[in-house]
Amino acid sequence: MFSIIDRDGVKLLVSDKIKEKHGFSTRVGGVSTLEHTASLNLGYYRGDDKETVIENLRRFSSAVSIPLEDFVSVTQIHSAEVRYTAEEDRGGGIFYKADYECDGYVTNRQGVALCVKTADCVPILFSSGDGIVGAVHAGWRGTARGIAAVCVERMVSLGAERENITVAIGPSIGQCCYEVGEDFYLEFSSLAGKVLTDRFVIRSIKSSGKYYADIKGANKEILLGVGIKEDNIDVSDMCTSCRDDLFYSHRKSGGLRGSMCSVIAL
Ligand SMILES: [Zn+2]
Repeated sequence: MFSIIDRDGVKLLVSDKIKEKHGFSTRVGGVSTLEHTASLNLGYYRGDDKETVIENLRRFSSAVSIPLEDFVSVTQIHSAEVRYTAEEDRGGGIFYKADYECDGYVTNRQGVALCVKTADCVPILFSSGDGIVGAVHAGWRGTARGIAAVCVERMVSLGAERENITVAIGPSIGQCCYEVGEDFYLEFSSLAGKVLTDRFVIRSIKSSGKYYADIKGANKEILLGVGIKEDNIDVSDMCTSCRDDLFYSHRKSGGLRGSMCSVIAL
């Protein structure tokens, strides 16, 4: 189950399925003053100056009790690339530009904080329960490319027991607000297959020709398909577009928005 907690004014979500230090940020508790980034924007290049973003990152890092120096959050490219991450990666994407790009991380190293950025896309955090963690950014392309399954396999290859892996699927745009067209249906289907697509990209009876995509549901189904127990999967019921008072929504804001972070560390 997810709950919203408040630490010195910083609101964040935590899941009781994840025992390690972790958190999903909201837009509440930072120092950004622009209308579209107020107030806890954790992404560069969204309109805030670098000092403002660093101060917001420090507040979030303090709220999750993970040193900002340990964070890794490199450029995301809507791929299914999940990278093994270690000490030398710390600070990448936060204090300097890393020389690689990816959409997910796994590690078995203490003091390495895996951090993904979202604003409608699905943030997913993983724990083996015994020393291996993962994090992925699953937009619709990453979802359709199976990045959640890739992360599980990377964790298993590091020694995780599949039946012990727990997963928290964080707040993202919900099916209520994620209207897509036939082109989306076709492209998702070509990447993920028709069976998954027909379950999670549903044609609306009310608005003819429009589809509504459930990317959180698709990720859960993908995780069940690679042997993760249903009891071990937590899915946030919050929609970033419905709750744009609490979250940034790329769709609702027409792209003029801040970024949220989801982080986990051993
Ligand atoms: Zn919604």
